[in-house]
Amino acid sequence: MENCIFCKIVAGEIPSPRLYEDEKMIVINDIEPKAKKHYLCIPKAHFARLNEMDGEKAETLKYCFEKIAELEETLGLSNGYRVMINQGEDGGQTVAHLHIHLLGGEKLQDF
Ligand code: 5GP
Ligand code: ZN
Repeated sequence: MENCIFCKIVAGEIPSPRLYEDEKMIVINDIEPKAKKHYLCIPKAHFARLNEMDGEKAETLKYCFEKIAELEETLGLSNGYRVMINQGEDGGQTVAHLHIHLLGGEKLQDF
């Protein structure tokens, strides 16, 4: 997808160190961390919102969540973490390529 910053990161056009990568997803540090540990899990396939879900995209997200669970220890999240997917303007989504925020490394504020 043209002009999508996360597609450019996935393609390596914008350098961003990967903490994990496989054929379906990458995990990188958020450039503006909102917690001691703040990762972004970015599916490689571009889609913006959950309302674009189809069987293949649902499989991709299932895969991402399973992989996140496997990576908890590696990412230093064994003591717990928060999972967030912002959706659209009211949800505070600023990058229109669906991504999963992982926040942890400390006790997070209630909200
Ligand atoms: P959203 O607001 O769409 O849920 O999340 C987008 C996130 O991407 C924000 O937390 C923002 O800090 C992060 N971000 C935006 N541009 C970049 C970038 O170029 N590199 C990295 N690593 N994170 C980015
Ligand atoms: Zn994209």
